[in-house]
Amino acid sequence: MTTISPRDLSKGQLLSLVLKCSDFAAKKHKRQKRMDKEGTPYINHPLGVANILTEEGDVHDPVVILSAILHDTVEDTETTFEEIEREFGSEVKLVVSEVTDDKTLPKMERKQLQIDHSPHISHEAKLVKLADKIYNLRDLRKEIPVGWTAERAHEYFKWAEQVIQGCRGTNERLEAILDEIFASEKMEHEKMLKKSA
Ligand code: NDP
Ligand code: ZN
Repeated sequence: MTTISPRDLSKGQLLSLVLKCSDFAAKKHKRQKRMDKEGTPYINHPLGVANILTEEGDVHDPVVILSAILHDTVEDTETTFEEIEREFGSEVKLVVSEVTDDKTLPKMERKQLQIDHSPHISHEAKLVKLADKIYNLRDLRKEIPVGWTAERAHEYFKWAEQVIQGCRGTNERLEAILDEIFASEKMEHEKMLKKSA
């Protein structure tokens, strides 16, 4: 049982915990793939989200980094919040719970709840959301997922922009990256509309 906060660990202990966390998430997501044509292993996503936080957001709070690595485990695998709390502590469990959708609700309701809830979640959870959306929107810019239309991808950008609206004032660097992504998507979309007119 992790009783002390990841924030109070020594550098060596923290390195061990980050690796334990990555190994935990990799095992949980081992049968899942991203929706790109190549079928990239799902674990690339949470590890990439954590890497965006450290490399591009200059975020080094262990609670945020561990939560980023774990952010899709409860939503997309059999992992429970109790398990997360036991292995990584109550602070990480709380952040993961703030970024976890209730999959028993209909999809459109879940999408709306993300927009409604994002202004009210913790600073730590907002950081995870910013990096998560950067990763997903970059994936969408690279390639339309299997079975999606270009219009569905564009709808996703518009929805993500509304979610991110509620997370503003959290991290200037990450928000500037998102602003650039949203602006270039709008330009591309307008170009596409003009071409088809
Ligand atoms: P989904 O929620 O079904 O899919 C997007 C999620 O898939 C991402 O948030 C991401 O979640 C995960 N993901 C996995 N692989 C990729 C990848 N390669 N690129 C990007 N994301 C990936 O999408 P939506 O239902 O939101 O669809 C977008 C819009 O299209 C909606 O606004 C909806 O109105 C419209 N639409 C939806 C349809 C539907 O059946 N849902 C049908 C037609 C249109 P994570 O971070 O958890 O990995
Ligand atoms: Zn995610």
